[in-house]
Amino acid sequence: MYPFSQPIESPMRLIANCPFCMRQYDPLQAQLVGSTDTTHIWYVSCVVCRHALMVAVLVTEGGVNSVGIVTDLQPEELTKYRDLSPITADDCLLLHASLAGDRDFVSLV
Ligand SMILES: [Zn+2]
Repeated sequence: MYPFSQPIESPMRLIANCPFCMRQYDPLQAQLVGSTDTTHIWYVSCVVCRHALMVAVLVTEGGVNSVGIVTDLQPEELTKYRDLSPITADDCLLLHASLAGDRDFVSLV
């Protein structure tokens, strides 16, 4: 078991400032939206410019790393889409065939 197997209290020590306007994040605004034994997903939004990040905090034997990804999703949407099946090659082929054909794309969505 890794030393940080419990969710880290906040990603704010790893990502302290908004990458767009450089304002310091409010730690109380960070929301934990998902967690496994080794990965904790946080959602943080900037109170100044309103840009949002999904922050993955990865805990390994070598230490703790974080990756921030800009998102336009809301925290509840992250939870919703997390539980969907991954897009497969067959899904892509079906989409391609649908767009190439005369089928109504909107009816497939
Ligand atoms: Zn900002």
